[in-house]
Amino acid sequence: MNLYNSLTRKKEEFIPLVEGKVTMYNCGPTVYNYIHVGNARPLVVFDTLRRYFIYKGLDVKMVINFTDIDDKIINRAKEEGKETTEIAQTYIDAFMEDAKELNLYEYPTIHPRATEYIDKMIEFIEGLIAKGAAYEVNGNVYFRIDKAKDYGKLSKKNIDELISGARIEINEDKENPLDFVLWKKEKQGEPSWDSPWGKGRPGWHIECSVMARALLGETIDIHSGGEDLQFPHHENEIAQSETLTGKPFARYWLHNAMLTVDNKKMSKSLGNFFTLKDIKKSYDLEVLRFFLLSAHYRSQINFSKEAMDQSKSALDRLYNAKTNLEYYIENASLNDDKKEYEEIKENVDFYKNKFINSMEDDINTADAIASIFELVRYINQNLDESKPKEALEYVYKVFMELNRVLGILSKRVEILEEDILKLIEERNNYRRNKEFSKADEIRDELKNRGIILEDTKDGVKWKRI
Ligand SMILES: [Zn+2]
Repeated sequence: MNLYNSLTRKKEEFIPLVEGKVTMYNCGPTVYNYIHVGNARPLVVFDTLRRYFIYKGLDVKMVINFTDIDDKIINRAKEEGKETTEIAQTYIDAFMEDAKELNLYEYPTIHPRATEYIDKMIEFIEGLIAKGAAYEVNGNVYFRIDKAKDYGKLSKKNIDELISGARIEINEDKENPLDFVLWKKEKQGEPSWDSPWGKGRPGWHIECSVMARALLGETIDIHSGGEDLQFPHHENEIAQSETLTGKPFARYWLHNAMLTVDNKKMSKSLGNFFTLKDIKKSYDLEVLRFFLLSAHYRSQINFSKEAMDQSKSALDRLYNAKTNLEYYIENASLNDDKKEYEEIKENVDFYKNKFINSMEDDINTADAIASIFELVRYINQNLDESKPKEALEYVYKVFMELNRVLGILSKRVEILEEDILKLIEERNNYRRNKEFSKADEIRDELKNRGIILEDTKDGVKWKRI
């Protein structure tokens, strides 16, 4: 499989450090607000990559951290007269609810919280000081970027240009304007922890380096996140980790492109800012998941009502194909034509291989989705209940497997035969009692759920639509 590595700016063959296993770290949210549609993109894309690895038989360990101490959380706590821990917990709960609805939890994700790793952060910073790569001034500790090998190698920034740009907001405590804070001195009334440099709290960048190392080891396979995190966040993670351990921090860096709303940058001031909580009022989050996968992750994607409506109807077509296949299998005739079976299998394998080739090419979900729709067209034009049952079951298995890689078609629970029969019986009772409007209500309800009733001289017959 090839993945585009931001570190080398090329597609490279992905070979995990340990055969059969993959470690993944994705920068998670700062929990002071509901997540928005832009935050959802890396979550969905890199969950899909994880799903694809699992489909290929790899064992994946995935970490998404929660930044639960930060200026934004402190400010929100002050505004609402609450503790920072209360604010963090509220938005962690909200995140997990949204994540579940985006189908991000089919496989386990480790969610460390920054505040649970303060001791390890202190240890890490002490290690950097011991190596001469960090220094303390007035209770603050800074990373000395001159000690980092190849600083700027991820973002490809020109260090001299950055230094001259940074001089505008010069901080006299720093030796170099690009040195960044590892430990911040306590401010009155803010949460703080004891450290060898007095009370304070960690800087943002150190959190990810420490949690990734503690949970996944010194060298991880894949570090991912939005492209806006490349500089300074990811650059600084590399500088800290590689300076301390002397080993490569992440072997493959994956970044998704940004999302626009109605072709503009999403911002609160433009009034085009959508949280998942807003979107849920109009759409199932599965529609959002499908929309986010409909473009390649390194292309910009534009969120709009039209795009969401299109995604919804595309998803409906997939659900219809699923329902049709289920109907064909349920009503399949006694056909065991081996030739016909082989021919159907060959066709289905063709679309399946197309899907796999797209995913192998830097997770091209846009093309992968296109091959699923080609398969749907094949199903609609060529299959029905007269085909060999074994062949229909094979088509169904492949169709569901491919959708599962994308994390879709997991939601709408099919109405069971038992329930249908119960409702038909109820309707018959109403008809016998001449309560026709109640009988019609049941007929309409079943129709809404994809079941059509037909009154024949032999009684009521039903079929799925
Ligand atoms: Zn991070």
